[in-house]
Amino acid sequence: MSEKNQIPKEMNWLEKNNEFIILWKDDHKSTFSMPFLRKKCPCALCREKRENKNPLKLFEEQSPQALHISPVGHYAIQIEWADGHSSGIYTFDMLRRLCSCSHCKNS
Ligand SMILES: [Zn+2]
Ligand SMILES: [Zn+2]
Repeated sequence: MSEKNQIPKEMNWLEKNNEFIILWKDDHKSTFSMPFLRKKCPCALCREKRENKNPLKLFEEQSPQALHISPVGHYAIQIEWADGHSSGIYTFDMLRRLCSCSHCKNS
C-alpha cells in the first residue's frame, strides 16, 4: 500500500486515557499514547535531544500533558504540550508509520 494516501477518516483525542486514536480511510485504527507521541516529536530540537541522550534515560522521562491538538492543513497535526513545546508537526504519513498495532508490527 502506498504511504502517500494516509488520510484519517476520524480522529479522537481521549484525554481521560491520554490517548490519540486515528481511524484511517482504509478502516485501519491506530491508537497512540500521548507520551509515545511526545517521545517521537519530529521537531529539530527533540531530534537533536534524542541523538545526544542515552535512549534508556529518555524512556524514563515524564511526558508533559498535551494541551491542544490541532490540524495542520490536510496533511498533519500539531500538538501543544503543557511545557510550552509545540513545534512538532506530525504528518499523517509519519503517524501511520508509527502505528504499532499487532497488524502493523507483523507486516
Ligand atoms: Zn519537539
Ligand atoms: Zn496499525
